[in-house]
Amino acid sequence: MRGAVLYGPRDVRFEERDVPKIIKPTDAIVRISATCVCGSDLWPYRGINQVPRPTPMGHEYCGIVEEVGHAVTSIKPGQFVIGSFFASDNSCPNCQIGYQSSCELKEFVSTAQASILRVPLADGTLVATPAVPSQDLIPSLLTLSDVMGTGWFAADAANVKPGSTVAVVGDGAVGLLGVLSANQMGAGRIIAMSRHESRQRLACEFGATDIVTERGDEGVARIKELTSGMGADSVLECVGTQESMVQAISSARKGGYVSYVGVPHGVEFDGEKLFYSHVHLHGGPAPVRRYLPEMIKLVWNRKIDPGKVFDLTLPLDQVAEGYRAMDERRAIKTLLRP
Ligand SMILES: [Zn+2]
Repeated sequence: MRGAVLYGPRDVRFEERDVPKIIKPTDAIVRISATCVCGSDLWPYRGINQVPRPTPMGHEYCGIVEEVGHAVTSIKPGQFVIGSFFASDNSCPNCQIGYQSSCELKEFVSTAQASILRVPLADGTLVATPAVPSQDLIPSLLTLSDVMGTGWFAADAANVKPGSTVAVVGDGAVGLLGVLSANQMGAGRIIAMSRHESRQRLACEFGATDIVTERGDEGVARIKELTSGMGADSVLECVGTQESMVQAISSARKGGYVSYVGVPHGVEFDGEKLFYSHVHLHGGPAPVRRYLPEMIKLVWNRKIDPGKVFDLTLPLDQVAEGYRAMDERRAIKTLLRP
C-alpha cells in the first residue's frame, strides 16, 4: 500500500507503507474512497510544527469498511462510513456530554492520506451512511470528517441562532463552512472577512451577506460600522493566530459569543482586556462525532453542499502537489482520490 509521508518542511512523499491490520478487537479497516489535505497539515508542512521523523499524514477520511475486529458490533464490512479525526468510544462521560474529541480513550487518526486506514474504536467513531453513496456525494460526505464538522462546531459554539448577526474571521475552508453552517442555523446576517476574490465568491454562495476585506483594527471598525456600533452577536475565529483572535474578540458585541476552532499558534490573552470584553468564549478541537448523524442527513438529502470547498482534485499519488497548491494559496482545499 502507498501513502503520504512528511519528511520535513515542504517534503511530502508518496511511498510504500505497511498495509494496516486489525490490532485491537475494536478496530475497523477502511478502504479510503476520498481523503484530503487539511489547513492544519500546513503547520508541520511549513516547518512551524517540528517534524522529528518521517510522519504519515492525513486525518480526514471516508470509505468502505473492509474488515472489523471481533468486538465491533454496529459497524459492518461493506458499509460506507465517515469518522472524526479523533477516534472516540462515544460512551465515556466526556463523549456523553458531546465532547467526543476529548474522549477518555481518544486516539488521533493520522494516517488517512493512503488507500487503506485502520480506525480505532470503530463502533464509537464511525457513522455509516444509509447506503453506498453516489460518486457526486463523496466530496461533501468527506468534509464531514473534519472541515465541515469544525465549521459547524464553530457556528454552534458561537451560539448562532435564527436572526443572529455573525462575523467569520478566516476565509480558509473551515471559515467558509462556518458561513454555510451559520446560514443553515438561520443567521440573519453573515459577515465574512476575506480579501481573496474566489473565497469571497464561495462565501457568498454559502450565505454570506457582507464581505469585509480589512483586517486588524480596521476590520473591527468595519464590523462595528455594519452593526450600528455594537459588534456581532456571534464571531467564529477560524485561523488560530494572535491577530485573528484579537480581531474576533474585538468584533463581538458586549455579551456576544466567540468560538475558536483554529489550532492556536502563539496566542496569548490579556486578562484585563478579556475581562472588559464581556464575551463568551467556547472552542477547541471540534467534537465532530456529535454532529455526524445530523450532517450526514443534510448532505444525503442534498440540503447542503459543503464539498464545494474542494477546488482541486488530484489522484493520491500527486499528494505533494496537493500540499503545494494549498501552501501557495492556489487552492482552498485539495481532495485526493486513491
Ligand atoms: Zn469517550
